[in-house]
Amino acid sequence: MYNLIHALSFDIEDWFHIAGIPEVERRGNWHEYPTIVEDKTDLILDILDEYDVKATFFVLGWIAEKYPDLIKKIVDRGHEIGSHGYWHYRVNTISRQMFKTYLERSITVLEELSGQKVKGYRAPSFSIMPGYEWAFEVMKEVGLRYDASLFPTQRGHGGYAIDQRPQLLPSSISKTNFIELPMSVMNFGKIKIPFSGGGYLRFWHEKVLQHGFNKLEKEGMPGVVYLHPRDFAPDCPRVKMSQFRRFKCYFNLHTTHRKLEMLLENYKFGTCEEVLKQWFEVVDLEELIKNKEKYLEGVV
Ligand SMILES: [Zn+2]
Repeated sequence: MYNLIHALSFDIEDWFHIAGIPEVERRGNWHEYPTIVEDKTDLILDILDEYDVKATFFVLGWIAEKYPDLIKKIVDRGHEIGSHGYWHYRVNTISRQMFKTYLERSITVLEELSGQKVKGYRAPSFSIMPGYEWAFEVMKEVGLRYDASLFPTQRGHGGYAIDQRPQLLPSSISKTNFIELPMSVMNFGKIKIPFSGGGYLRFWHEKVLQHGFNKLEKEGMPGVVYLHPRDFAPDCPRVKMSQFRRFKCYFNLHTTHRKLEMLLENYKFGTCEEVLKQWFEVVDLEELIKNKEKYLEGVV
């Protein structure tokens, strides 16, 4: 599809926001660590300016409070601000109340600093799994419009069996009218292969990434790219972890910059909100949520 826009997103956190590694999850130590988040976010912003592309930055509340100027820079350069939670807690490790408290805290900080209404959320490690659908009710309660956390195949910390098209969540998943932008996979029969973000994007050769995006375009399906500042930091500090996790976290870090440029050279990208508006053909996502019945009847 010639005019298809894919979603470009960045989860803005530091190198030590790695899920499931107790040594760095202990936040008492965070202030003592060296940091890469400002430098590498600047690099990302420069790349996007060069290609005149806008993206969604799902920022951790803790990062926003610590580096308020970073939020201003992202906004001044025309990008969308979303929430990545406050402390980088995975949704499937905390209570509904805790999720709500910290989600609200992150939104307050981000809205105050950005002057933007925060509409989207990305769960750390895509950690909304079956059994945690209450997260959508909470997102609606706190005034968000869409979620971009479901990963349509099994992975280390997340995974949710869902079609990858953008959608209003069906009532089998949530009774809440809520919009979902799932991550992208390449379908080979029943096998779904992630390719468009983080360690997967770093792992695959550029030709595989192109194959994935060409396939999505042929199907008229917007893809979702997700990256972190640390994906652009070949020299970032290393954390002790299993060999497999080490591979996923640190493999091919030197290739991210070039791969992102290749994608920006060959495909059209925009913010998550833009992609959703394009998909549902609405000017305001709120309108879609209010008129769920109408849309489910086949208006879109
Ligand atoms: Zn994260």
